Amino acid sequence: MTASVNTKAYQSLDAAHHIHAFLDQKQLNAEGPRVITRGEGLNLWDSDGKRYLDGMSGLWCTYLGYGRKDLNQAAFKQMEELVYYNLFFHTTHPRVIELSELLFGILPSKYSHAIYTNSGSESNELLIRTVRRYWQIQGKPEKKILIGRWNGYHGSTLGTAALGGMDFMQAMGGMLPDFAHIGEPYWFAQGAGLSEQDFGLKAAQELEIKILELGADKVAAFVAEPFQGAGGMIFPPANYWAEIQRICRKYDVLLCADEVISGFGRTGEWFGHQHFGFEPDTLSIAKGLTSGYIPMGGLILSHKMGETLVEKGGVFAHGSTYGGHPVAAAVAIANIKALRDEGWVDRVKNDTGPYLQKLLRETFDNHPLIGQVQGHGLVAAIQFAQDKATQKRFANENDIAWHCRSVGFEEGVIIRSTLGRMIMAPALVATHSELDELVEKTKRAVDRTGRELKLL
Ligand code: PMP
Repeated sequence: MTASVNTKAYQSLDAAHHIHAFLDQKQLNAEGPRVITRGEGLNLWDSDGKRYLDGMSGLWCTYLGYGRKDLNQAAFKQMEELVYYNLFFHTTHPRVIELSELLFGILPSKYSHAIYTNSGSESNELLIRTVRRYWQIQGKPEKKILIGRWNGYHGSTLGTAALGGMDFMQAMGGMLPDFAHIGEPYWFAQGAGLSEQDFGLKAAQELEIKILELGADKVAAFVAEPFQGAGGMIFPPANYWAEIQRICRKYDVLLCADEVISGFGRTGEWFGHQHFGFEPDTLSIAKGLTSGYIPMGGLILSHKMGETLVEKGGVFAHGSTYGGHPVAAAVAIANIKALRDEGWVDRVKNDTGPYLQKLLRETFDNHPLIGQVQGHGLVAAIQFAQDKATQKRFANENDIAWHCRSVGFEEGVIIRSTLGRMIMAPALVATHSELDELVEKTKRAVDRTGRELKLL
C-alpha cells in the first residue's frame, strides 16, 4: 500500500522533530514510520487505514485492549472531581488510598507498602535508592552493590541502564559504580550439552560466585525479571528461582523482582514470582497497573522492608510531582477491578493461556527454522535456530528476526524481534479467534522469512 498524503505529511514532521526509541533515526527517516491512529480491542489502524492485530499489547501494557470506555470514564470523572494533588505537604487523597487497598487485596500477604511512580524506569530507579537506604538503616551502609543480569532490562535512566544488562545502553551515558552482573538463564543459547535443569543450577550459582567475589557485606540486592522480557521472553529453567532464593537468603541479599512485564496476570498468576514460586522482597510494577491507559508505576515493599523504613528510617528523601497522581490512580482502580471482576487473569490461566501455548507448540515445534517455543499464559517466544538438536543459532539471527518482524507488519500482525527470537504478549482479553489469527499470521511471517532470506 502506498502512503497517503496525510501519512507523508506526518512522516516528514516526525522526521523533523523526533528521535525515536532504540532505532537508528537516520534509517527510520529514510523508511518513514508507520503512523498509528486508532485502536479497538486488539486491533490497531494506521493512517492509511491498514489494520494490524497487536500481538504485543502496545509495549506489553494494554492488558485490557484498546478503547475501554470504563477506564476512559474513570479518568474523566477524576479529572472533574480532583484533577491533581500530591503526597507531599502532609496530604493524601482518596483515589491513591483506594488503589492501595485494592492492590494489597490481590498481592500476597508478604507485602504491605507501595510508593507510586510514573513508569517502570522510575520504579527501578527508586528501587536502587530504597534498597541502599534500607541497608543504611540496618546499620550496614557498605551493602550497596546491586547485582543484575546481562541482557536484563530495567529501564532507560542512568541507574536502571547500569542495573540492566544491555551493554550498548551502558555505553551511552556511562556505567555507574556499585553495580555488577551475572549471566542470564538462557538455556537454548548457552546451555548446549547440558540438561535444562543442570544449566538452571549453573546459571543460578553464578550469583553465589559473584556474591563471594564482591563480599556479601557489600551486596545489597539481586534484581531480575521473573522471565526476561525485552531480552527475549526468556523463561528460566524450572529450578532456577528456588536456587536464587536460597542464595539470597544465605548471604542476606535482598531479592527484588522486576514485575513490570510479568505483573497483573501475564502468566495466568497475578504476579510472575507466583508463577515461578519464589518470594521477592520488592516488586517493581508499571504497565499492567493501568493497562497503559495512563502512565503509572510503583515499588511494592514487603512488610519487613516497609516497616523498617517507616519505623527506623526517618525522612524518606524521595518524591515526584506526579507519584500517586489521582487520575492515574482512578484508571488503575478501574483497570484492576476489571482484571479481577471480569475474570481475565483466571481466563489466562485456565483457558486462553493454555490455548495459545498449545497452538504455538503445534505450529512451531517441528518447524525447520524454529529451535524452541517458550512461554506461559499470554506471553511467548519462538527461537530461530539453524539446528534444533545442537541448539545452533543462525549467525545473523538478529537480521532474520528483524526481517520476520517487518513482514509480520505487512501480514497485519505486530510481533517483536529480539536477537533471534520473535516475541508476543497479546492483551489478556484476546479471544480464541484472535489468538488463531496471531499464530497464523506469525507462521506466515516466519515462512516468508525463510523463503525471502533463502534459509530453507
Ligand atoms: N522493567 C522492565 C522489565 C521492562 O520491560 C521495562 C520496559 N519495557 C521497564 C522496566 C521500564 O519501564 P518504562 O519503559 O515504563 O520506563
